[in-house]
Amino acid sequence: MTSFDRIDEAIVARALAQEPGSRLRTQIIPPQGRVAVELEKGQTLRVVDLDGQQVADLICFNRDDLAEKFSPNVSVMLKGNIHLTTGDYLYSVDARPLLRIGHDTVGCHDVLAGSCCRGLNRFRYGPEAEHQPNCRDNLAAVMAPYGVTIREIPYPFNVFMNVPVEADGHIEVIEPVSKPGDFVDLIAERNVVVAISNCPQERNECNGFAATRLGLVIYAAEASA
Ligand SMILES: [Zn+2]
Repeated sequence: MTSFDRIDEAIVARALAQEPGSRLRTQIIPPQGRVAVELEKGQTLRVVDLDGQQVADLICFNRDDLAEKFSPNVSVMLKGNIHLTTGDYLYSVDARPLLRIGHDTVGCHDVLAGSCCRGLNRFRYGPEAEHQPNCRDNLAAVMAPYGVTIREIPYPFNVFMNVPVEADGHIEVIEPVSKPGDFVDLIAERNVVVAISNCPQERNECNGFAATRLGLVIYAAEASA
């Protein structure tokens, strides 16, 4: 039994392929939803695009010192590349690894575009868009119980987000290439809190103009063979 029971079998088979350890639990994040997940060192969080073309804004904190949070800038600098995929690390502001990217069936994610938020929505879509659901409010809501305020929410690793960069530096948000059942595994390098906003943006191509479901799977830390 998993919470994926009502999902098409072929999609579940893709989502649960090549599991990195014993499955502890599965969870669905509904469209526009949000969640914070605590991981022990060595556990793996699998983020699944259940319906295709759905972005997850993902941030991470050292669970033992919440001031040590994910830094997209440090992660890019230490790799020397804006494309993060299998084998790469999500580093903290103190240049320590928080998460390591394991199996990645898509290989197309973003660290440049930040999160949709009240200010960006107002600037781009007018005052009526300012209070629509957005990732920054979502992330702040799930981190509030930890005492992390919205001003302390870092910019994210945008799982499945497709933001190609042209030679002249031009960037544009286009539709994700992820298909139903695609996933990326994130392995905890220390005890962490991971917060995810299932991006509610429907005014641009970020989520193919429709917010849909994400799936999460947590796997136990495996003793190395
Ligand atoms: Zn968003």
